[in-house]
Amino acid sequence: MSDAKASEETTPRMEDLVSLCARRGFIFQSSEIYGGINGFWDYGPLGVELKNNLKAFWWQRVVRERDDVEGIDSSIIAHPRTWEASGHVEHFSDPMVDCRTCKRRFRADQLPDEPCPEAPEDRADRSCDFTDPRSFNLMLQTQIGASEDAASIAYLRAETCQSIFTDFKRVREAARQKIPFGIAQIGKAFRNEINPRNFTFRSREFEQAELEFFCHPSEREKWFEHWLEERLRFHREIGLTAENLRTRAHAEDELAHYAKQAVDVEFRFPFGWQEIEGIHDRGDWDLSRHGEYSGKDLGVTDPETKEHFVPMVIETSVGIDRTCLALLCQAYAVEDLGGGETRTLLRLHSALAPIKAAVLPLSKKLAEPARELHRELRRRWNVFYDDAGNIGRRYRRQDEAGTPFCITYDFDSQEDGRVTVRERDSMAQERVALDAVAGYLRERVECGA
Ligand code: ATP
Repeated sequence: MSDAKASEETTPRMEDLVSLCARRGFIFQSSEIYGGINGFWDYGPLGVELKNNLKAFWWQRVVRERDDVEGIDSSIIAHPRTWEASGHVEHFSDPMVDCRTCKRRFRADQLPDEPCPEAPEDRADRSCDFTDPRSFNLMLQTQIGASEDAASIAYLRAETCQSIFTDFKRVREAARQKIPFGIAQIGKAFRNEINPRNFTFRSREFEQAELEFFCHPSEREKWFEHWLEERLRFHREIGLTAENLRTRAHAEDELAHYAKQAVDVEFRFPFGWQEIEGIHDRGDWDLSRHGEYSGKDLGVTDPETKEHFVPMVIETSVGIDRTCLALLCQAYAVEDLGGGETRTLLRLHSALAPIKAAVLPLSKKLAEPARELHRELRRRWNVFYDDAGNIGRRYRRQDEAGTPFCITYDFDSQEDGRVTVRERDSMAQERVALDAVAGYLRERVECGA
């Protein structure tokens, strides 16, 4: 029942991770049986748990543990004026180029490194033959109702935050909040990305968790610093290590025209350093524009000084899918156990792990009491039951799924009322009394653990 001590590790290669994700049901192509659809992904039984745990963790830290943040869940489709006011209809575009030879399409700022697959022999550098850049709007359109005229056009939201601005007055009054305070939401966003790639990193449908924090103009720097620090703490807390995390401040010419400062949180993916979250000082651009386009006053009056002002907005916007991918890259390891044996494991933070524990009876004859333990634990957590195959193989299956604890019910358990709990990373085992198992897990797998 004991494991040999691990001696070696390897860093993840994207193809190994992608293969594990498909094989174990974390993430795989949408519409796989039709050959897939570019830029769309499905989360399987383990993936949906990981994603839900990450969202719950974010919600816990950003909304529930604070007096100054309220949550909402708005519709994906909003009044089309929303996207005119936000500037998306006019400006939300990327420059795009086509290769005249291979007919592939790229973002002008993300040209391929590899040679053109169709380049003629006489082209010395075998590069693509690009057209001039053209502007390509990234918003996905749809039509509402039976008629197909211009008035029926609507957009699948390109970011979740716009409804936070349009709902600002309602939420502030309903929740009886005063400035400074924030509104948060998690939800789907859609972008018609020219070149979806790097697994789920750049998708056409993805989830964002966004916070818009409204403050007085005199306090914008202070809140920017506060939220930058909070968000970095969060990323460290979920298990992204210091050597894989960095911040990158936007240069003056990179900033959106309305933004005062912006910092990206970047993770070191196997394909390089890339953004997982943006922290932006958006000024009063959004509330002012929605005020102007709707004709409603979205300003506030300070109850003490009677000053009337439009609040400034500090935004934190994290991609749930990108963070899930970062977590998987960070957690993936292959250990050499000696004697030609290896194990693949996901060292996921236990609060995020899809399965918290697996109950493994040593023999099918022990199914009844093991099932009883499983029934008790699953009332609270996602707990797996597995009585098939030898115990070593069952451990390996759980290691690969990132399950932090395996609980083995053996023949001694009936005598001494104890089970063996094996910890995933160290493979250390200890005997725990049956009636103490729930408490043991509670201390180790819940949010603050
Ligand atoms: P990029 O420069 O990579 O296109 P962005 O700066 O446009 O990203 P934002 O508009 O700031 O991204 O969105 C905030 C977050 O939403 C990003 O940090 C990222 O985690 C996530 N996100 C944005 N676009 C995508 C996408 N196409 N697929 C997956 N996640 C995305």
